[in-house]
Amino acid sequence: MGNVLKAIRGTKDMLPEESPYWQHVESLFRDVVSAYDYQEIRTPVLEETALFSRSIGNETDIVSKEMYSFEDRNGDSLSLRPEGTACVVRAGIQAGLFHNQWQRLWYVGPMFRHERPQKGRYRQFHHAGVEAYGYVGSAIEAEVIAISHELLNRLGILDEVTCQINHLGEASERAAFREALVDYLTPHKNKLDEDSQRRLSTNPLRILDSKVPATQELLQDAPTLMDFLSDESREHLSQLQEMLSSLGIQTVVNPSLVRGLDYYTGVVFEWVTESLGAQGTVCAGGRYDGLVEQLGGRATPAFGFAAGLERLILILQERDELTSVPDLCVIPGNPAFMPTTLEVASLLREHFPAWRVSSQLAGRSLKATMKQVFQLNPRYTCVISTDESGMHYFDVKNLETRESRSCSTQTDLIDFLRENT
Ligand code: ATP
Ligand code: MG
Repeated sequence: MGNVLKAIRGTKDMLPEESPYWQHVESLFRDVVSAYDYQEIRTPVLEETALFSRSIGNETDIVSKEMYSFEDRNGDSLSLRPEGTACVVRAGIQAGLFHNQWQRLWYVGPMFRHERPQKGRYRQFHHAGVEAYGYVGSAIEAEVIAISHELLNRLGILDEVTCQINHLGEASERAAFREALVDYLTPHKNKLDEDSQRRLSTNPLRILDSKVPATQELLQDAPTLMDFLSDESREHLSQLQEMLSSLGIQTVVNPSLVRGLDYYTGVVFEWVTESLGAQGTVCAGGRYDGLVEQLGGRATPAFGFAAGLERLILILQERDELTSVPDLCVIPGNPAFMPTTLEVASLLREHFPAWRVSSQLAGRSLKATMKQVFQLNPRYTCVISTDESGMHYFDVKNLETRESRSCSTQTDLIDFLRENT
């Protein structure tokens, strides 16, 4: 075959055997967000690079190392979106969605980051996200976290995950912490990794994210953000936890949870699992009250999350087997009956619009076709034959109850299927 082209490293084809999982997760997510009356928003995959450097932050791993950025034919610097929040904010400002309005939005789509591919970490992956704009206070935070909880609940994987929560403090509290952190780290500067040394002067809070063991060791005795939180911030966090608890949602405070993006301001949270190794976060989000203004809109409070669909699907695949099974297979008893097969299948789809009706059109012998059909495991089979006078009849069988009937008319066939559903 010579030079066979392959998918780009870190990207994956979603093959038919995997698609039932994707459809399941996406449709549950759509059900949940519509039950909460959130509206869909879709934005382009391509944006100006500046959108992400101005929102996620130049010193974050995402912007400094992971973005797919390139110059297009006009010489503009564009990037494939590494996440959805900045895009939704850009779109909302552009369309005037935040002017004296409250918005509760959701999106699903591919994101791109040039990371080292491994289980649960890809270069093209998918987020299902929720964003609420215009709402202050903990009620909206409880609602958005409840949406993520309901998604995990409907997926049946709540027992695999824990909700960690933290408060990043008000701007003045973060500034005081930042100063204390710099004071603590500066004398040890030469023990820090190269990125962290640079971040010490550009964005010291990002050092907390460092994955370098020596840096993490140094951080063990560093001051923590918790020590700098005001009573209001602490009170806010416990009020939110209580509200969630009365909705049946338990949370654990993790004082070292900071998130890898610069725009977060207050409450942050993550759903974490032990079952995916180092890729343990399946859903993450928080408050980002400064971002709309930072990107040129009016100051607008905001709270949201993004769930990583690949990681949710990895958990599901280890627990449940999902397949797509036809309800009924229409089988020509002889390849010459294919036109009738198409007609009967089409009639049945009209009468049973929710069913998957599969016509068997491979033109193989009846025996070979039946063998294949049994592997599909449908609820019904309907074999088309002709009698001595050349009239079609239909041998229909319910494979669960083993009931069957030989029907001489299409009406008879439909009656049998109605009686036997
Ligand atoms: P991580 O610490 O695992 O790199 P992150 O903090 O970079 O995650 P976010 O930007 O908050 O992740 O994105 C939200 C969710 O998207 C993550 O919790 C994860 O489930 C998923 N995610 C992030 N990066 C990837 C990736 N490269 N491949 C697959 N899923 C990802
Ligand atoms: Mg990351």
